[in-house]
Amino acid sequence: MLRRAVPVTAGAPRRCFVAALALIATTLWVAPAHGQRIALTFDDGPDMANAIGLAPAARNAAILRQLNDAQLRSILFVTRTDADPNRNELIRQWGQAGQQIGNHTATHPSLNETGLADFERDFLAADQALREMPGFSRRFRFPYLKEGDTAAKRNGFRAFLDAKSYKTGPVSVDASDWYYSARLAARLKQHPGADTLAYRDAYLRHLLERAQYYDGLSRTALGRSVAHVLLLHHNLINALFLKDVIGMFEAKGWTLIDSESAFRDPVYAMRPDTLPAGESILWALAKQNGVAGLRYPAEDDRYEKAILDALPQ
Ligand SMILES: [Zn+2]
Repeated sequence: MLRRAVPVTAGAPRRCFVAALALIATTLWVAPAHGQRIALTFDDGPDMANAIGLAPAARNAAILRQLNDAQLRSILFVTRTDADPNRNELIRQWGQAGQQIGNHTATHPSLNETGLADFERDFLAADQALREMPGFSRRFRFPYLKEGDTAAKRNGFRAFLDAKSYKTGPVSVDASDWYYSARLAARLKQHPGADTLAYRDAYLRHLLERAQYYDGLSRTALGRSVAHVLLLHHNLINALFLKDVIGMFEAKGWTLIDSESAFRDPVYAMRPDTLPAGESILWALAKQNGVAGLRYPAEDDRYEKAILDALPQ
């Protein structure tokens, strides 16, 4: 079991009424099992070739509308591979809506399978293409959350980012929204207009279960619940159900926060000493601490297949 109870660390008793009141207030604020904070962040897309369920522009508008309705500021870590003006316009809409844009490389290579020099060139191509976009932020997210299979690559790219005045955009809660979305899209391709609520409900259960798992890792590795950063993607399932995702977390006692606010948690400046490097920052810290039973990769479609196979196809 990775989850464990938070130890009661009330501190030494003080002979002071005011301090006692403060202590009670602190205890009331810290004690609930609920009270976790989580920010939504998005990778990839807009995928201009995929119009199943919703056309690319409609997906983009739906995600932005639901973020705006919830008054949430998020970040889209986008790849820049071409100069498609229609795609650029959708990316630009994020900044115009008060959201941020981050660098996710030009062609989405894995640093575990790419040489450092090639990876740096890919990063620079995206930086060049994105830096004039409204809302651009010097923040980088590794494709596939893979941060290098050797110490030379891992440390080399960390130094490279420092030299470019970039920060990373780690995640604390990893999940497989991309797979749930692909399976939902397969159903809609087969049966346009089909009922999708079973997919929505399975998706919400998956996100909550993963968030609770990583919150347990946080308490195990750090002794506290960090300001979480959830990895989502610019895809159909979030275009359709982002409002439900937000509502589900709120109903479970979680507070939705802005991504920049979450990234201020000091956990995201930590640099775990693991190889291959990457995955959720909490997974990597747990790995570094010798926590047993961690699966690798931490998230994958293979873990979700049976759940989705059981739904109407
Ligand atoms: Zn990606």
